[in-house]
Amino acid sequence: MQPFIYNGLASRVIFGFGTLGQLPAEIDRLGLKRVIVLATPQQQREAQKTAAGLDGRAAGVFAEAAMHTPVEITERALEQVTESRADGVVAIGGGSTTGLAKAIALRSDLPQIVVPTTYAGSEMTPILGETKEGLKTTIRSEKVLPETVIYDVDLTLTLPAGLTATSGLNAIAHAVEALYAQDRNPIISMMAEEGIASLARALPRLMENPRDSDARSDALYGAWLCGTCLGAVGMALHHKLCHTLGGSFDLPHAETHTVVLPHAAAYNAKAAPDAMKRIARALSARSAPLGLYRLAKLLRAPTALRDIGMPADGIGKAVDIALQNPYWNPAPIERGAIHGLIERAWHGDLPQ
Ligand code: NAD
Repeated sequence: MQPFIYNGLASRVIFGFGTLGQLPAEIDRLGLKRVIVLATPQQQREAQKTAAGLDGRAAGVFAEAAMHTPVEITERALEQVTESRADGVVAIGGGSTTGLAKAIALRSDLPQIVVPTTYAGSEMTPILGETKEGLKTTIRSEKVLPETVIYDVDLTLTLPAGLTATSGLNAIAHAVEALYAQDRNPIISMMAEEGIASLARALPRLMENPRDSDARSDALYGAWLCGTCLGAVGMALHHKLCHTLGGSFDLPHAETHTVVLPHAAAYNAKAAPDAMKRIARALSARSAPLGLYRLAKLLRAPTALRDIGMPADGIGKAVDIALQNPYWNPAPIERGAIHGLIERAWHGDLPQ
């Protein structure tokens, strides 16, 4: 056994069907009296329904959460928090809504209860990415880690097939990089392998029937495990590239992860053979990069950056930005090899 350090993060997790019904009890458990309920404009109805069911514990609804947590929206939400004298936040939605809850918590220290409805995994991490005037910054602080997470499988039944596939592959990406993280440890690696296997089993079934509740349960369980991996150990090339590409070309988050993942895995394959063995085993595939590529194809998810909005003349710029700030990665970061990776991902070629 290699020596390791394991830092457990303190959050309470409730998992099951219909668990949103436990929200009033969880609000009381944290000693809160008036919570503000957050959502995106698309999920405003769910937020209003939830607030109405809180028997006087709701201070209002703020349904303006948006991708990449723009600071202007956080400031508007904070005004409503102050005016309504809210003493806690409840987020119902995907990574965008969780991001808003975290941004409010960072500035106000209010406790958060997060009810995730995608597989992004942000609810399990002490990480917050925010954008101000088009610039994205990421911070890591235990202040933004939600106190309580309620996973309610029923709320994921409405997740459209396309987002189910890409959000699921976004979750798998956290586990893939956790398996070759510099600070990896046996517990997180176990969770990573189980998370990949659980999602890889569930996602194809959900393409056949998005309302298959057993498969939804397996997928959400996998997403929880993968989110825990993201919060616990450092990420490498894949997450850095997706951050660069998403920020520079305004590409959609989950789709970018979906396209880049097989290529990032191929880049690191030789340098991280044990991780590749475990990823392949979890996917029931012979090769990890090819297994990831085939899973994306099977799920009819995008496999080319050109199909999700990246211009051909952006490849050079992406390579430059990817090389700007050095970071740890199992394989050395080399200009020619990174150029090849981004080019293959742009065309949607097989990973190599
Ligand atoms: P999202 O939260 O933007 O959701 C996408 C769309 O799907 C939204 O319109 C949302 O309202 C809708 N939606 C969500 N759940 C639904 C459901 N069950 N049924 C129907 N519609 C539903 O997308 P996302 O991929 O979950 O999150 C992406 C964001 O999260 C990015 O900004 C990313 O940077 C951030 N993120 C942060 C972390 C972190 O640790 N800080 C981790 C992962 C993602």
